[in-house]
Amino acid sequence: MAVQRVYNFNAGPSVLPREVMEQVAAEFADYHGLGYGLAEASHRSKEFEEVIHAAEANTRKLMGIPDDYAVLFLQGGASLQFAMVPMNLAVAGKPMLYADTGSWSAAAIKEAKLFGDVKVVYDGKASNFSVIGDVGEWQIDQNAAYMYVCSNNTIEGTEYHFFPDAGSVPLIADMSSDIMSCVVDVSKFGMIFAGAQKNLGPAGVTLVIMKKDLAARVGAKVPSMLKYSTHIDKESLYNTPPCIAIYMVRLVTDWLIKLGGLSAIQKINEAKSDALYGAIDGSDFYRGTAEAADRSRMNVTFRLPTEALEETFGAQAKKAGLVGLKGHRNVGGMRASIYNAMPMEGVSSLIDFMHEFETKNR
Ligand SMILES: *Cc1c(COP(=O)(O)O)cnc(C)c1O
Repeated sequence: MAVQRVYNFNAGPSVLPREVMEQVAAEFADYHGLGYGLAEASHRSKEFEEVIHAAEANTRKLMGIPDDYAVLFLQGGASLQFAMVPMNLAVAGKPMLYADTGSWSAAAIKEAKLFGDVKVVYDGKASNFSVIGDVGEWQIDQNAAYMYVCSNNTIEGTEYHFFPDAGSVPLIADMSSDIMSCVVDVSKFGMIFAGAQKNLGPAGVTLVIMKKDLAARVGAKVPSMLKYSTHIDKESLYNTPPCIAIYMVRLVTDWLIKLGGLSAIQKINEAKSDALYGAIDGSDFYRGTAEAADRSRMNVTFRLPTEALEETFGAQAKKAGLVGLKGHRNVGGMRASIYNAMPMEGVSSLIDFMHEFETKNR
């Protein structure tokens, strides 16, 4: 049976490298000649130990993570991090600083308010979250417990291309939707976290990279599972981890290393997003929704002249093998998520489709 080529623009869970999907399928029922699958193996087996160590080593290598940082594979998604961050890192009498750049930072702020005094240093509401603006102008109180940002706003289509200089205040970033899409200086951050299901693997595992000394801040009343220090001590094996999800992160990071690492994927991602934004800007039929300087290289959001045309665009694109282009229900319009595993050919097909659609419908 011929496999029909579909380009998957879903925002998350989202496209993974084809060769990784094929390798997982080939190894699923019989892992490396064991006679059973990794999903059936003990998380304390030498097979899984090799997998989790490789996933960590790959992550350290790709991101250049300093030795005084822990790399953890946790559960509960990025959403649990919204609560774990303040639960572990709040300090009595010190404000927690947040930049509100969209739905996911707002969700994090909501949780932080349960644990102490939140100060919002930037509020993007006035621009409908289409702008991040000049982060150099933000007032970062040096008495703060930490400063929190969401590096890529998956829903609104904006991304930080520069991070604020938080001075001695630990900078914490939710990088769920742009993790490992470009070169980042980890040493500038106290902590980075990312749900895997956009750029790293399937849902079920959350990557946490944190400076180990920060984990010591935690109070005694925090349950073991919700303490970073527990997972650092037990090297992510305090309880049964999501073995298959971690195995897939290992394969995706193998793929990234083979491709040339983050500087190589960054160039590819820039070429893809430049091409797509070029198509949008070169037409008065399509209209980008994010401020040009703050545009995301991962989630390209745009509108058509009417909602009816947007509906037709989505339906016809799907027929043409371009799926997942409908924007988030909160903001409407279209969104093309072009994560690491989306090849340039997929973006080119979308651009060709956009030109055709415009010609027929303008
Ligand atoms: C998808 C997403 C989340 C939510 O992730 P879950 O793993 O579903 O909790 C959080 N932050 C960002 C930036 C996201 O893109």
